[in-house]
Amino acid sequence: MALPPLIGHTGLRTRLAHAVAKGALPQVILLTGPAGVGKQRLSLWLAQLVLCERRGSEPCQECRPCRLVGTLSHPDVHWFIPVPRPKASDSDKQVEEAAQNLAQAIEERRSQPLYGESDGMASHSLATVRLLQRRASLTAVEGGRRVFIIGEADRLVAQEASPEAANALLKLLEEPPAGSLFVLTTVEPRRLLPTVRSRAVTLRLAPLADAEVRGFLETSLQPRPSSGELDQRVAAAAGSPGRALQAGLAGGRAQEAADRLLAGVLAGPGPALERALNQQPWSARGEFTAMLDALAETLGEAARVSVGQPPRRELPESLLRHSGPEPLLHALERVADAREAAWGNVNPQILLAVLGQELAEVL
Ligand SMILES: [Zn+2]
Repeated sequence: MALPPLIGHTGLRTRLAHAVAKGALPQVILLTGPAGVGKQRLSLWLAQLVLCERRGSEPCQECRPCRLVGTLSHPDVHWFIPVPRPKASDSDKQVEEAAQNLAQAIEERRSQPLYGESDGMASHSLATVRLLQRRASLTAVEGGRRVFIIGEADRLVAQEASPEAANALLKLLEEPPAGSLFVLTTVEPRRLLPTVRSRAVTLRLAPLADAEVRGFLETSLQPRPSSGELDQRVAAAAGSPGRALQAGLAGGRAQEAADRLLAGVLAGPGPALERALNQQPWSARGEFTAMLDALAETLGEAARVSVGQPPRRELPESLLRHSGPEPLLHALERVADAREAAWGNVNPQILLAVLGQELAEVL
């Protein structure tokens, strides 16, 4: 499957295309901007642009290099995505394992080009940096330029944990091999080591216009959502197509989990509540926070209905028994607290048990 089209960022694309045409593109670039705004997609576009055989202000999309990048199979474009930490104890085996994990991650992106957030535990481990070093020391397979994309670069193992990884990367960025281009992406540049940051030219991607996000959803979602759902998703996306997508991808499952929890809480102490508190869909922290977001959305919707607004979707009957919004707003506060705590190192199961108790008290 080919990459989804790159939407928006026209000003930045024009600047980059000028730089490429003049041979003035920096060798190390840091792309920053909101989650899901298209930083890695723009990196791949840039890879196409520098490798394209018939380039104008845009990659032609038709020449061999363009097509290879478009199917994530160009041998000189190395896209590093955070992956699970290798389990092998031998360091050579770790690098092998990192390469396999990465190949698998790329395969997933190839079969599902519209992807969600990576697993909260995935990172660029020392083994990944070693792999990057190895690949950077080779020559181009196709004889042209080589592009190294490091997505979510803030997930590089912390310097304290591995000064070796940080130093190896710094060395690469300080003296990039001839003909290579490094593109790092991050939501939050301050999470990168200042020494890494200072070696890159930082470019910021602005949120897209609502109309652009809407156009993206209209062309990429099958079946096409209702106009009302589109409105909601566009509003929630705040200019980020990835966020608009995520709202749907993880949304269904998160909503189910949130509904089970609410049903358990509303049924009062008993087996239903036990089951709801013991449900374990949380293989990733992101899934847990998505459930909390769905829970907050449902409570917010119930609060709207409790002040006489017409319901925009079906809600659990027992949530509608309140004559005013107060209990629902209190419940919302508890969910917000849990959401905050979920970013720390707290076990989701423990958070859920506490939250379940609190919700049972206020609802
Ligand atoms: Zn081309």
